[in-house]
Amino acid sequence: MTFRASVLTLYPEMFPGPLGLSLSGKALANGLWSLDVADIRDFATDRHRSVDDTPAGGGPGMVMRCDVTARALDAVAGPEDPRPRLLMSPRGRPLRQDFVRELAGGPGVVVLCGRFEGVDERLIEGRALTEVSIGDYVLSGGEPAAQVLLDAVVRLLPGVMGKTESGAEESFEAGLLEYPHYTRPQVWEGRTIPEVLTSGDHGRIANWRRRASEAITAERRPDLWADHRAREGRESKAAGPGPRR
Ligand code: SAH
Repeated sequence: MTFRASVLTLYPEMFPGPLGLSLSGKALANGLWSLDVADIRDFATDRHRSVDDTPAGGGPGMVMRCDVTARALDAVAGPEDPRPRLLMSPRGRPLRQDFVRELAGGPGVVVLCGRFEGVDERLIEGRALTEVSIGDYVLSGGEPAAQVLLDAVVRLLPGVMGKTESGAEESFEAGLLEYPHYTRPQVWEGRTIPEVLTSGDHGRIANWRRRASEAITAERRPDLWADHRAREGRESKAAGPGPRR
């Protein structure tokens, strides 16, 4: 079954955009996933085709109307649709690799892109939307966030990446950041490739990479490093009583 992505937006011209190129674009052309895009404005009913209105209680900006947006959502994904309904939002669940993997293992996603100040809260409740954030900053619209999410998900779909093991060693997959990469030339501006990497000794190479991953993670992301250490501690406990100290 193909992974099916449906995007709801006020700017359908933004899609497929970058998703139509390179890895995700080839996968799209090869039918490894599908993308349909709905223009929320098509579901407006008044003469001006309005999709937003002023915030109740006053204040700056505009709010996307729940009635119009719900009509768009219901047309794209009825109550029987098994796909998660996501709303891109800075208030959402942080998009991390485990969440990406979870989505990639499902039937697809329905992604609602916000604009203006966001959507009427009643829509989030009434359609049980899962809010998803791509980071602690504010974009002007949900479209780039939806593209980030879909890019991350699509590359994990079966058949999209060349080698099956590709991805398994990457940043975050083991809770660590990735080790550094090198390729030819052997010497560049006086800088050489670490000797171990050209040694052909796979055991030493794996060891070096592991240690480099740990060092980079500990230095750059103390939060990830602490989680990793805690997980390792739990795993060694679960493995049974070790040698007495
Ligand atoms: N007033 C809102 C921000 C609205 S930004 C607030 O303060 O929380 C407009 C739209 O951009 C949002 O509805 C959302 O769809 C999208 N957006 C902005 N930042 C985002 C982020 N970090 N992650 C995901 N979507 C984001």
